Amino acid sequence: MQRFKGQTVVVTGGNKGIGFGIAERFAAEGASVVIASIEPQVEEAAAKLRDSGARASGVICDVTDRGAVTALYDRAEEEFGSVDVSIQNAGIITIAKVEDLTEGEWDATMAVNTKGVFLCCQEAIKRMRASGRGGRLINTASGQARDGFIYTPHYAASKMGVVGITQSLAKEVALDGITINAICPGIIYSEMWDYNDKIWGDMLGNYAPGELMKDWVENKIPMKRAGQPADVAGLVAFLASEDASYITGQTINVDGGLIMS
Ligand code: NDP
Repeated sequence: MQRFKGQTVVVTGGNKGIGFGIAERFAAEGASVVIASIEPQVEEAAAKLRDSGARASGVICDVTDRGAVTALYDRAEEEFGSVDVSIQNAGIITIAKVEDLTEGEWDATMAVNTKGVFLCCQEAIKRMRASGRGGRLINTASGQARDGFIYTPHYAASKMGVVGITQSLAKEVALDGITINAICPGIIYSEMWDYNDKIWGDMLGNYAPGELMKDWVENKIPMKRAGQPADVAGLVAFLASEDASYITGQTINVDGGLIMS
């Protein structure tokens, strides 16, 4: 399928994990892809996409920095001619007991996960409106936007904020041919999950590495497997496609049935 031929897709946090899985999917379906992250390795990730035959660029961009975000979307337009789909996926997490959680962790988490999503939506919407072509925005929230997990009040708040941004903006841009939806991944293989598995595993009762995930998979996920970035990419590609043109302001779980509300 080449559903996104002629379209440009921006993916923040696109150098690895879920974001790279999303970028690979759009590249395979014909899109020009601009991936952004803070580490210089983003260029190597873009080179991998180009090696597979796609048009792709890597841009160093801290999503908390308005100037850098503007430059990211400028680059997408200058290089590929438009911004048609924007995936706000960059995110961070820390895990700490309430007495130990620092104000710095709170501020950093809200800055990347919530303000960063807003700044990217703002910049993408400005360009989609100006082009008159409409567009699609997809924001990565989390199962923690549904049900806050222990030792992560800052992360849960930041991801519930993503749902608020999604609903509010969806109402504002509904007549501009722009849809905006949020997704809630469950347990997905990535560096972030490796960190979660180790720290939560220790804090929740000395699980050996990998054992917390095993416990969740066996006892909490009805489909009895953790997700791959490709599982998330399938949902994102659907939401960006023509088939999803009447869906906006929604928050959709992609978690093997872990959360059903
Ligand atoms: P990873 O830790 O593997 O990737 C996080 C990505 O975010 C990296 O590309 C990282 O870039 C980027 N990033 C972090 N801070 C910034 C910043 N300030 N500016 C730009 N980019 C930044 O995590 P995942 O792939 O697992 O997570 C992707 C998204 O999915 C996140 O929003 C996460 O909260 C969410 N999620 C993940 C789940 C999971 O089980 N894995 C479950 C639910 C939600 P760099 O490498 O340059 O640091």
